[in-house]
This record gives sequence, C-alpha cells and structure tokens, in this order.
Amino acid sequence: MDTIEHWINGTATPAGSTRTAPVFDPATGRRQAQVLLAEASDVDSAVSAAGKAFESWGDSSLSQRTKVMFAFRELLVRHEDELARIISAEHGKVVEDARGEVVRGREVVEYACGIADALKGGFSDQVSRDVDVHDFRQPLGVVAGITPFNFPIMVPLWMHPIAIASGNTFVLKPSERDPSASNFVAQLYADAGLPEGVFNVVHGDKTAVDAILDHPGIAAVSFVGSTPIAKYVHERATATGKRVQALGGAKNHAVVLPDADLEYAAGHLTAAAFGSAGQRCMAISVAIAVGSAGDKLVKILERKAAEVKVGPGTDPASDMGPLVTQAARERVLNSITRGAEQGAKVVVDGRGLTVEGYEEGFFVGPSLLDEVTREMDAYREEIFGPVLAIIRTETLDEAIATINANPYGNGTALFTAGGEAARRFQREVKVGMIGINVPIPVPMSYYSFGGWKDSLIGDSPIHGPAGVRFYTRAKVVTTRWPHTDAAFTFPTST
Ligand code: NAD
Repeated sequence: MDTIEHWINGTATPAGSTRTAPVFDPATGRRQAQVLLAEASDVDSAVSAAGKAFESWGDSSLSQRTKVMFAFRELLVRHEDELARIISAEHGKVVEDARGEVVRGREVVEYACGIADALKGGFSDQVSRDVDVHDFRQPLGVVAGITPFNFPIMVPLWMHPIAIASGNTFVLKPSERDPSASNFVAQLYADAGLPEGVFNVVHGDKTAVDAILDHPGIAAVSFVGSTPIAKYVHERATATGKRVQALGGAKNHAVVLPDADLEYAAGHLTAAAFGSAGQRCMAISVAIAVGSAGDKLVKILERKAAEVKVGPGTDPASDMGPLVTQAARERVLNSITRGAEQGAKVVVDGRGLTVEGYEEGFFVGPSLLDEVTREMDAYREEIFGPVLAIIRTETLDEAIATINANPYGNGTALFTAGGEAARRFQREVKVGMIGINVPIPVPMSYYSFGGWKDSLIGDSPIHGPAGVRFYTRAKVVTTRWPHTDAAFTFPTST
C-alpha cells in the first residue's frame, strides 16, 4: 500500500513516527493508501527548514518571487487534469467539479503574480518642513496553514501563494483524508524554481495541529475548517502570540421570492445543495420559500433532485459523488432520520441509495426535507451532506430575520426579479458573501473571502487584499535630512 510522506525542505520525507491514517477511495469504500501522521518533531523539522529558507526568501526581490509565481501558475494549467483526478480519487467529488476548484485556486496564484502592486506602500511628501513619511510592508517569517478535506487544493491555494509571494515561508498541514494533492503541489513549486524549504507539507492530525499552534518559530496561522476547531485554533494560537485567521463552518440560506423565475432558482438550488455531495462551505443547505413561492418551488425541487445522477467521481455522467468517509455518510443518514423524527417531511429520501457496482461506496442520495422549523436539528446543525432543508416564511423581512438569527454567516443568496428587494437584502443580511440570483457567491481572488459570525473567528478574511495584509506587517518611516534644530515639544507639523 502506498504511503504518503511529508514534504520537507524540497523533498519527500518519512516521518519520525510510525503512526498512519488510512486514505480511502470513497466511491468503492476501499483503503487505497496510508498517510503518515506527524509528531511534534516532524513539525519542528519543517519549521526549521522554513526558518532557514526565510533567511534568503524573505530578502528575495519582488521580481524573483513573481517569476516563481508565473512559472507555478503555468504548471497548474499544464497539470490541471492530473490534479483534478488526484482530488477526485481521495475526496470523491466528480472530476469536472475538482477541475473547478483547481481553476478557482489558480486564480489566487494569478493575484499573487501581481504582488508587487499589492505590496506598494504610500508616500507623503513634506508632512512637516523637510520631513517625508512613507510606509512599506514586510513578511512575517514562517507561517502555517491548516486546511479541511473538502477543497484539498483550492483552500490551501487561498493561503500559500499570497504568503510566499509576500516573502514568507510556509508549512501546510492539509486534511489527512485527502493528502496527496498537497504533495503534488509541492513538486510543482519545486519545478517552478521555488527554493527548498519555502513550501513544506506536514501530514497529520491533532498532534501536528497542536505542535503548529504552540511552535515559537511560527508567526501566523491560517485555518479553514469547522467552527469548533476554528475557535480552538484561534484561542490556542493567539495565546502563543501568533497572528491567526480562522474560517469556520456554515449554514447557508437561499431565499426565493414569489417574483423569481422558479425554474431557474430551483435548478441553481439543486446544483448548490447537492454538488460535491453538499460538502462545500458555500453549499446551500436551507432554502427559504417566501409566500406563494413555497409549494411551486418544492414541486420543482423534488423533480430536479430525482434527476441528479449519483455515481463515482470518475464517471463523466455523474453529477454528484460519494461522501468523503463512511463516518461522514453515517452522520448524514442520522441527520435525515432525526429530521423525519422531529417532524420534517422527507420529500426526497437519499438514505436508500446504492450505486450499481459501487455498493460499498460512501454514497447518500440527494435529500429534500420540507416543513423544517428553526428548532429542528436538521436546521441547527451543519449537516455537510446532500440535504436541502426547506423553510416557509410569509415575508422577506421574516426570511432576513431567520438568516440573521442563525449563528453562521458565511454565504447567502436571494432569487428575485426585483431590485428593491435585492438591495434591501444585501444591506440588511448579516452574512459575509451574498449572491443575487447567484447561489454560490465565492468572491474572485482579488476580493477577500470570509463570512461573519461563527463562520469567521477573529477578524481577517482570506486571500485578496486581506490576505496580503494578513501575511505582512507595516512599517511607517518618518524621514528628515536635517538642517533644523531639535525641540523638546512633541513633534507636530509646521
Ligand atoms: P475539520 O475542522 O474537521 O478539520 C479541519 C482541519 O483541522 C484538518 O486539517 C484537521 O486535521 C484538523 N483537525 C480536525 N480535528 C482537530 C482537532 N480536534 N484538533 C486540532 N485539529 C483538528 O473540518 P473538515 O471536516 O476537514 O472540513 C469541513 C468543515 O470545514 C466544514 O465545517 C466546512 O463548513 C468548513 N469549511 C469552511 C470553509 C470556509 O471558508 N469558511 C471552507 C471550507 C470548509
């Protein structure tokens, strides 16, 4: 069985320990590899390599850094198909969907290719007599990323291109459930001419995460994953003086008004709820049908959910693949069962689904729960599976109040034909990323990505301008070439 090793100082590296975790093929349910789980000593080796590399990379020219980023970008284009297949094989999502995450991640590299512009400081001439002020930003040092299973390439790409282009060196701890894409990326960086030790990958579980959070050689931690772990990471890493950005889980609502094109809305809701088997942090998991939209919308959704083709990610005919693990599958099945027990109407039931030839795969079919209330577990919990809950409200105000009362605030969408409702929705809703007739409004790489409330712990969104600020810190320089006398009063502009 293949063993997936760490990548430290420019080369694949066996672990100091012998602990491993299985990596499954979610479509067949079979173990296909094992991944090494790092001990604190492995994290320490990676941080040492990154610290050594920072001595020269932190001082490298902007043109050297952007040259590497341009080359890395070209390699991501050339290997797009291979990467998509590596992701699909361990995550289970369909290859075309995986290709989408490669492309969206690559867009962050494209943003990083323009780092010279993003890092430009300001200059104020003659702030006082013969005095000028300018500011500039410098890298932090060794920074770390801890990432979830659901976007094994895109989420790390939200982090490391900007960190590295800004002059930092990086230690990535990807999800242990689909680790291979990170090693492939490490090889591409090496091929792009990135010096050894600038990008390192340490595989592992809580032991590796804790070692990162406590390591005195790490200046900042970027985390994306579930909310409880985001809170834990934020608390523990800030306690050791690190800068932390921690993005958490989600429960994304889409509101459908009676004036919307219901066929269009239902089509997009179906794709946004069941694509990637619902394992997207921007997946729509709650549809709020307003007024007379309700019954008509549910009928169309029922038809469309039944049309979703479920199968292995490698089959081009599949719309949706399996869940990532058997444990995830069981969690989703339990959520549907509890929803039914608590009074939700199961309009489409994905619990009994089997895929011919893949009977041991981790599949759950698209599931539609109607008449869900805010008290039910199916509404309160992040199910992270192909389950769409439907809530009915009489008014848009009531829909907005529902969204604002929810502890999460990652993404939301409104389907309408009316500009007034759209404007009110985007101004009043307490959510970080909003779509108007767009179900999954993931911001482009030159904006920043981040939710509100429990979907973002701390105050730093990720990538785009916020990413550059996160991975650098500013200095402000006040300059005088002296020919005036010193004074004992506090300096003011004269
Ligand atoms: P997770 O929180 O279980 O794991 C994320 C990372 O934390 C992994 O690297 C994992 O190894 C590590 N980890 C897990 N348990 C830990 C523990 N007890 N102590 C220390 N580290 C631990 O998340 P996941 O299941 O891999 O991913 C799905 C979650 O991520 C969902 O909640 C989803 O909404 C969220 N997510 C959010 C965003 C966003 O942008 N807000 C994006 C993608 C995924």
